[in-house]
Amino acid sequence: MGTQRKRIRLLALVLALILLLAGFTACAKTTDSLIDPSADNTSADNAPENTASSSLNGVDLKDFVIVYSDDDSAYSKRAAQYIQNMVKTRTGLELKLAEDDAAAAQYEIVVGETSRPISSRLDPVVGKAQFTILAEDNAIALEGEYFVIAAAAYYFINTYVPKADFEAQIPKQVSTLDPIVKKATNFILMIGDGMGVNTTRLFEVMDNRIAYGDGEELFYGYYLPYQGTARTRSLSGTTDSAASGTALATGTKTLNGYLGRNKDGKDLLSLTELAAQQGKSTAVMSTEVQTGATPSAFSAHASDRNSSDEILASQQITVDTYGTIIDCDYDYYDEAGVTKLRNAITGNLDKLDDNKKGFFMMYEEAYTDKHNHANDKEMSFSALVRFNQAIGLVMEYAFYHPNTFVLITADHETGGLTEDFKYTSDNHTGEDVCVFAHGNRGDYFHNTSVDNTQIGQAFATFMGALEFGE
Ligand SMILES: [Zn+2]
Repeated sequence: MGTQRKRIRLLALVLALILLLAGFTACAKTTDSLIDPSADNTSADNAPENTASSSLNGVDLKDFVIVYSDDDSAYSKRAAQYIQNMVKTRTGLELKLAEDDAAAAQYEIVVGETSRPISSRLDPVVGKAQFTILAEDNAIALEGEYFVIAAAAYYFINTYVPKADFEAQIPKQVSTLDPIVKKATNFILMIGDGMGVNTTRLFEVMDNRIAYGDGEELFYGYYLPYQGTARTRSLSGTTDSAASGTALATGTKTLNGYLGRNKDGKDLLSLTELAAQQGKSTAVMSTEVQTGATPSAFSAHASDRNSSDEILASQQITVDTYGTIIDCDYDYYDEAGVTKLRNAITGNLDKLDDNKKGFFMMYEEAYTDKHNHANDKEMSFSALVRFNQAIGLVMEYAFYHPNTFVLITADHETGGLTEDFKYTSDNHTGEDVCVFAHGNRGDYFHNTSVDNTQIGQAFATFMGALEFGE
């Protein structure tokens, strides 16, 4: 009797194994036919629960061609490539890409503002991080200005192409939507040195024909959903970039000239160190030289901003201890130079992106300050447009990685630039500066005035630190 039971058990086991293997084979077949879109998917008839009939508004996903706007900035092209890559990753289907001037295909996913008829029925939201989506019988279109198209592409993929086998319905009226945001593990702080409120408004009076710009008509900070102001005074009165950099980096007020140290000369924990101690990757980027006050406040401890040797030695300890990327000194304004800067930004984000625990990056545009000291509006505007390029790339990254928090501000105002764009000083002033934020908990900064130390403290809080700053 015992043997018989054992035999039955064995038989059941063998039967289960056969069924299991058969199941695996069926799955494998489905996957194969998905990877090769030309393969005849006849096995689908026998296994209706396993059909890979991914469709958008009843049209087979594989019948769509992705058409993108061929604007100079390439945000739309990269959004189209993102959709193509993600469709392939999730469904195995390889959709064709086509430029705007290509002949119309029967079914199209239209990315960015093109000459397709559907584009004329779908205006982008101007000057805001909001995008629009519209479906018609033969086309689906996504529009968002400049880098905002990235948020549209991310939304489209993660809402309508969730997996291999789906039937999505996209509304046939215009939807105006906000970017998807998740709890932040990546933190990016962007500082325009000496970029007062009226410097950010220079687009109102300057003719933007700068070769390396996007032809934009607005400082990109104004696209971010949360906007407020910050006070900048240091313990010495009107701040310098050392004390304000330290306030942002450590959440602590100090004296002018001090880097990463309090008024008594005691080392303060910086956001760079806090993030690194949490296992995050860290980077300090600036168009300024490495020993400049702002990059130094985020990577060194010294009591004199002019003590280059001491700063360099301190920075070396940071690099050796935490592997911090320090990437500085981009002093040029021509197209080739800014292309090099853009590549450095995307290259650094790519490296930081490898860390599953996330990262902290500080990015500074230093030349808004230098040109405001010289009361040179044209050059200050050039630096502002270059800063916009950096912001565009960072925001594009943030839209493809919704676990990213971005804050843009200035360390102080320089030049006393008035509302009608006249300089009244050749030095720093005590005026409040702009704060622009995007991401989870960014509403903390909305419609309010904070002290600059609260920016550093908020970053630390968002990273989960219980105590930060003095
Ligand atoms: Zn200055």
